Amino acid sequence: MIELDDNLVSWVRDLRRWFHSHPEPSFEEHQTQDKIVQVLSDLGIECRRAGQTGVIADVRGNGPRRTIALRADMDALRIKEAETEINHEYRSQNDGVMHACGHDAHMAMLLGAARWLLEHWDRLPGNVRLIFQPAEEVPPGGAGLMIADGCLEGVDAIAAVHVFGNMPLSRIGFRPGPFMAATRTFRVTIRGKPGHHMCPQDNIDPIQIAARFISTVQTDIRQRLNPNSRYVLGFGEVHSGTQHNQTPAEAEVVGTFRSYDLRDSEAIVAAIRSNLDGLMVAFGREKGDSPPEQQIESAAVQSPFSPSSPVPSYLLDAEPAYPPLVNNPTFTRRAAEVLRQSFVNVDDDMEPNLGGEDFACYLEKVPGVFLFLGGGNPERGITAMNHSDRFDMDEAVLATGTKVLLTLATDFLAEPAPYIGRLA
Ligand SMILES: [Zn+2]
Ligand SMILES: [Zn+2]
Repeated sequence: MIELDDNLVSWVRDLRRWFHSHPEPSFEEHQTQDKIVQVLSDLGIECRRAGQTGVIADVRGNGPRRTIALRADMDALRIKEAETEINHEYRSQNDGVMHACGHDAHMAMLLGAARWLLEHWDRLPGNVRLIFQPAEEVPPGGAGLMIADGCLEGVDAIAAVHVFGNMPLSRIGFRPGPFMAATRTFRVTIRGKPGHHMCPQDNIDPIQIAARFISTVQTDIRQRLNPNSRYVLGFGEVHSGTQHNQTPAEAEVVGTFRSYDLRDSEAIVAAIRSNLDGLMVAFGREKGDSPPEQQIESAAVQSPFSPSSPVPSYLLDAEPAYPPLVNNPTFTRRAAEVLRQSFVNVDDDMEPNLGGEDFACYLEKVPGVFLFLGGGNPERGITAMNHSDRFDMDEAVLATGTKVLLTLATDFLAEPAPYIGRLA
């Protein structure tokens, strides 16, 4: 059973507060990276910068055994943090950016684990790789870059935790097999024919096409998917126009969709495309017509279309997905057993969910587990879900998370075979 002394616990809490008040968005984690490098250097742990704004380090134990990696993500979100009853000591000092997904806690817990491991290195029968990964929130994400920079070289297994504000404090939830969804971002740009509102018969309104797309695409998706398939699609951005009495040249709709199977993901792209093809026909009453020259030029400044693109027309950019996150069954079963010995609230049969996580990329390469960790506390008014401007956590979760990481790492290094079956 791992014990943390009060000194370490308050050190982790202070680090979490520092990260929380200095949030930086994806791939802009420069100060965050410097801070991690500084803390590791102060501890005497060698590290290197990788994946643009990430950090890789090793804590070496007393023995040439195996290596387990522990990963923390680093990025914050472009959300303006609300003032709440509990965050006045550590509210974001970077206006409009907020650690609304708990990545501040993940970094602090991993540093706490590093410090504990260092203090116990002589009893550690293997190595622990620390992966501080940037840009989890923006596909294609930072995991791929960290892997390309060698973060998994020599690694036998991997684990990570993720704090959730709407889960009860210190509940640990996970499941073997598929646990989180494949997530894709799509961006539709629609080109219409601009003009004065007084002559609608001469214009093709890309806002109306976008509105029709938004209201009809889900029906098309349902008709293409196996009725047993689960998916969600949400719209996140709609942009168009600069002038209240002009039909604009273009409109843009951006969103994400999620499913547990990459084949469903492809079917959704096909449905989006066929919906848009239908709309182009429906709105293309003046086929072959070109928009007025002047308008094309002004729209062409930032337009992805060429001047000879037909009107109406569209561009669909469906970025590559984060793969579905699949917890290694053997590893996960052993993890469940070991966690039950030290923690009271362990749910190893949690419902899979449609969130996306680029931790999935590591799990495609090495066995391991991704765990959800409850940070909520309704008695203290801490209930907001991640990505809310009121998201926060009961900081007691920091000690739990640090202990969870250490429990998995030390047990794996002492007894690797049960985690990954028969080892060579
Ligand atoms: Zn998030
Ligand atoms: Zn997150």
